[in-house]
This record gives sequence, C-alpha cells and structure tokens, in this order.
Amino acid sequence: MAGSLQLVACSSQPTNEKQNMSAEQMQHATADVHSFAQPTQAVARHLDLDIDVDFDRKVLGGRATYQIENLTGTDKIIFDTRDLDIEKVYLGEEMTETTFRLDEGDKVLGRPLIVDIKPDTKKVTIAYRTRPEAAALQWLNPQQTAGKKHPFLFTQSQAILARTWIPIQDSPGIRITYKAKVKVPKALLAVMSAENPVQKNENGVYTFSMEQPIPSYLMALSVGDLTFRNIGEHTGIYAEPATIEAAAYEFAEMDKMLVAAEKLYGRYRWDRYDLLVLPPSFPFGGMENPRLTFVTPTVLAKDRSLTSLIAHELAHSWSGNLVTNATWNDFWLNEGFTVYFERRIMEELYGRDYADMLHVLGYQDLQETLADKGADNPDTRLKLDLAGRDPDEGLTDIAYEKGNFFLVNIERAVGRERFDAFLNKYFSTFAFESTNTDKFLDFLRKELIQGDAQLAEQINVDGWVYAPGLPADFKAPRSSRFAKVEQVYEAWKNGKPAAQLNTGDWSSHEWLHFIRMLPEQMSQQQMADLDKAFNFTNSGNSEVLAAWFLHAIRNNYVSADKALEEFLVRVGRRKFLVPIYKALTASPAGKKKALAIYAKARPNYHAVSTVTLDELLK
Ligand SMILES: [Zn+2]
Repeated sequence: MAGSLQLVACSSQPTNEKQNMSAEQMQHATADVHSFAQPTQAVARHLDLDIDVDFDRKVLGGRATYQIENLTGTDKIIFDTRDLDIEKVYLGEEMTETTFRLDEGDKVLGRPLIVDIKPDTKKVTIAYRTRPEAAALQWLNPQQTAGKKHPFLFTQSQAILARTWIPIQDSPGIRITYKAKVKVPKALLAVMSAENPVQKNENGVYTFSMEQPIPSYLMALSVGDLTFRNIGEHTGIYAEPATIEAAAYEFAEMDKMLVAAEKLYGRYRWDRYDLLVLPPSFPFGGMENPRLTFVTPTVLAKDRSLTSLIAHELAHSWSGNLVTNATWNDFWLNEGFTVYFERRIMEELYGRDYADMLHVLGYQDLQETLADKGADNPDTRLKLDLAGRDPDEGLTDIAYEKGNFFLVNIERAVGRERFDAFLNKYFSTFAFESTNTDKFLDFLRKELIQGDAQLAEQINVDGWVYAPGLPADFKAPRSSRFAKVEQVYEAWKNGKPAAQLNTGDWSSHEWLHFIRMLPEQMSQQQMADLDKAFNFTNSGNSEVLAAWFLHAIRNNYVSADKALEEFLVRVGRRKFLVPIYKALTASPAGKKKALAIYAKARPNYHAVSTVTLDELLK
C-alpha cells in the first residue's frame, strides 16, 4: 500500500561516494524521505526480537538485536522510532553498554535513534518498550472479539508504523531476515509474518523464523485465542474458534489460487501461504504479511463472493513482498501490479467475464477518486511526491487502479503472451530486491519496447506515469455481465417494480453495480420497494451494505439507521468508513448523527482509520 516522488537514485549522495558504491548499495541509496536511517553508512541485515506481550498495560517490551554491516566505518547507526521508550543499547556479543540519543523528529516520522558504534561493530542490542498509544498496535478487549472471552492484539506496520513497535530501519528499501521469541498469556497463541506454530503450548512462549529478507513494513504480530485449520498442503487458516468454520468455507479455494498464481508468474517463494482472520476492527481489507496474510472478516460473505481480496493479498507475494517499492513514492509498483495480478488469478479461476466485472468496479472507484482530487492534481500521477507528508496519503485508488490500467494498456499493446513473459522475467530478475519507477521503466524499455517508436507511443509511459489523470485515449473497461445488469436497471427506472426485476443469480459484484447506478435522489417509496424486494438493509454482504447505506443517508431513509449504526460500530475497515462518514457529514443533521456514532465507535477503530476520520469529522 502507498505513493511516489521524482527522486533519482543516489541524488543525495556526493559524487565520489557514488562511484565507490556497489550495485546493492546504489539500490539502498534511493532516498527515502520517510526514514531517518542512513543505510549507505550502516545497515541492519538481521533482527533477533525477544519481547513480552503485556495485555494489562498494553505494552510490548524486550530486546531487538540487530546484526549490522558498517559500510563506511562510521561511528553511528540510525534507527527509526516513534513513541518508543529506549532503555539501554549494547554492542557486540559481550553486550557492552553504549551511548545513544533520540533526536528531535516529527509527529509522523517519529524520532531517529542514533546509536554510537565502532567501525567493527557487528551487533547492536536495543532494550525498549512500546507505549499504549503505539499506532501500529491495536489492543482489543474480549468484547471486541468474536469469542468475547480473551483479549486480542494485532499489528499493522504499513506504511511507516513498524517503528512504533520495534526500533527499526523503517524503509521499504532495506530488507532484513528475522527470528523472534514472543511471550504471551497462556490461553493465547502468537503468530507472525514468519514460520508459525499451529497450536498453543503450555508456557506461552513462541518462536518464529523468517529466512527470506523482508522490508520492515512486513513485520507483523498477532496474539489471540487462535486456532489453525489446514486447507491444502501449503495453505491454511488461523482464526478465533468462533470464526474458523465460516473462514474455512469462505476460503476453501485459496489452494487453487496459489496454483493459478504460480502458473502465471512463477514459483511461490515463501513456502507456506496462510491467512489470519482478524476481528472486524482491522482497518484494511487485507495486509500481505509474508506467509501470513492478515484479513478482515468483512469478506466472510458466506458465498465466496468477495475472495478476490485473497487473490490480491496472495499476488503481493510477488509484487510487493518479493519485488518491493523502494520508497512510498513508488507505491504503484506494489499495488498497481498486484491489482492486475489479482484479476488475472480471478480470470484463471472464474473466467474473463468475472474479471471484467472487477475491472469495471475498479474503474468506477478510480473515476470517483479522480473527481474527488481533481484531474490535474499531482497526486493522480503514478509517481508521487509525498515528501513532508504521511505516506498513508498515497494509499489511494490511483496507485491501485490507475496502476492496474497502465499494465492493462501495456498488455493490450504487446499481447498477453509477451507481457506475461516480461512479468515473469521482472519478478525473477528483481526477486528479494527493492525497485523504483525508474528501474521498472528502464527494464520495460530494454525488455519490451526495444526502441520500437510506435510501441513506445502506444504504451505512453509519460502519459501514465508522470501526467495527472488518465490519458485521453484510454478506453474504459466493459463487462458483458454488467451490460445485463444495466438492462435490468433501465427496466426499473422505467417503472418496473423492484419485486419483478429479473436479477437471476447475480453475484455480489452485479448487485454492487446495480446499487451504484441507482439515482442520487430517490423517494421513500422507491427506497422501501428496493429494500423490500432485495433486503439490502440486512444484507450479509459488506460491499452491498456499504453501497446501500450511501443511498440511505442521502435520501434520509431512516429504516436503515439502526443497521447503519451497528455496522459503523462493529466494522473498522477504512474503505467502508470514509465514504459513509463523508456522506453523513453532507448535512448538519447527518453530521450530528455521525459525531454521535463516532463517539461510540472510535474505540473500536485502529489508528490507521482514526487518523483519517478525526480529520474528516473535526
Ligand atoms: Zn495491496
């Protein structure tokens, strides 16, 4: 998840130093404006994390021990921190205490931890504690879980929140391997973005190992009353006991997705692929933590209709986790590729007409974002400039959907066969490395465009990557299944009663398209008729529900009030919350309602959501 800036690799480095750098160091030199670390001087390569989880005090405490490489013989190494209490720092195997300081930083980036080292220092151990307000951590009380008996904890590190629970060089351009030992209360199981235990043990101490190097934003931990269920040989699900059955049914096809993904873009490089189903306050649809995707329970629709989200998170095992955006200004390289890949997986499983529906819905989201931001807004370029801002602001549909349609455009220009071969080569060439927009475009020119002027014009790199909005000649996606929905909609608009509409075996995507087409202004009678015929207000499908609530709010359809409030209090997924709260604030009465609900719901939301909503509702 995140956005981009026109920084050229090494631009901040003095010339003589540039000349002496290896290719790998050059890669690290891509300036990341969202980290204080200086990895061209001294860089962490491996982390041994040893922490206790204290639910009573809402604190993680322990030690982060790094194996470091001092590249220039410098006398300091810099880590990112935010709201961390640093107790002591030690050097080497003999654990000699060393001096350190926390410099002034800012609210978003936190404070740099500057540790005094020696030219030959290979190991740095930091004793630290988190604070209850650590933004990455959400501590849930038992009432906020499905089982209602035990507390629950989960992390969300992307984009720059890893530094709120581990002192770390928190840039996506830096990769580390890690091992961890985590102590938790006895009734609970801990899991991480690593090789995981599958059952609880007697002493509540769990060990983890991640042998492939990962960027810091993929550091992840969750602790709760969790149980595990195998799905396939290499796939499985962690969830609370109250949720495991529903999850196992919903995600039964995850093994097929893995097979389809490997067929498209090469071997899965992370051994296992498991899911962790979180309580509903999780702020995102999913988070692609390696080996263990964290997923919202709002996709448990009971009919497997929202599982493209799993295809998306799985696709990140290639685009993002394997080949990683070097800075948040290149976020489209993570998300645009992943949306494209997600829809290719869904096409393999369910056919072209299914994937076409996803493209059209994504295009609608993109149009909305473009209208919202203004088509000339520099933030609608694929390559962003997020300097001085929270990189979270780059997490928009531009990176996801405009990025996807750029790749669709390339596929159309060169043909699918050539494009697939190109993507395979891209993933294998840059595996376990960071990449940026320039690096990708160089590879594109070398491997695909190859000096063909006509092809270069068709692909139109400048129009897509560096210009705002969409290129004028872009053809909007079409869906044959949606064309049928549009016929039904026309019949309704021409007076056919809702109860007589032929909605056949519509999937949730077709329902969503129908609801999105409904006019902004509807009579109470129209709303009631639709609701009576299709039971939208009580839908078990969160996508349908969220789209319907927008109409209910605009048309002051009070029959949906109770369900709306219940939804907002229970669900913390930002994608749903933002448009709903926004719609409420459009009128004074709605704003009053929004503030009353928010007061009740806010304790259930993760900081990622409250940062956005506090601003919206102030
Ligand atoms: Zn994603």
